[in-house]
Amino acid sequence: METLSVSTSERVDLVDITSQVAHEVSKSSVGTGTVTIYVPHTTCGVTINESADPDVARDIKMHLTKLVPQEGAFRHYEGNSDSHIKTSMIGSSENIIIENGKLVLGTWQGIFLCDFDGPRTRKVYIKIVEG
Ligand code: ZN
Repeated sequence: METLSVSTSERVDLVDITSQVAHEVSKSSVGTGTVTIYVPHTTCGVTINESADPDVARDIKMHLTKLVPQEGAFRHYEGNSDSHIKTSMIGSSENIIIENGKLVLGTWQGIFLCDFDGPRTRKVYIKIVEG
C-alpha cells in the first residue's frame, strides 16, 4: 500500500489527484489489475468526475454546500456535521481498472479528493492489486 499526502486550501475543496494515482500505478509495474483509492478520514472523501472543465468541481462544491449547509440543527459537538454528511454522500473509496499499465478512465474523468472540513493535509491510501 502507498500513501499520498494531499493538501487542501479551502473548507470545502476538490483536488484533482489523477496524476498522483497514475504515477503510483506506473511505479507498481502492474499491467492488469485494479487500484483502490481509499481516504481514511470521516470528513473527506473521494470521487470520479469531470476534470476537463474546472467549473464542474466548482458546481459540485457549491451545490453540496447548498444541499447540506454548515449551520443546521445538528447535535454533533464538533460543529462539523455537514462535513460528515457530505463525506457519506460522496463515499470514501473508488476502484479503477488497470489495463496495459494504465488507469482505465474516460476521456473527461479525473479522480478528486473531496475535503469537507479543510483546509488541511489529508491521507489517501492507494492499493494496487494485480490480476
Ligand atoms: Zn466531527
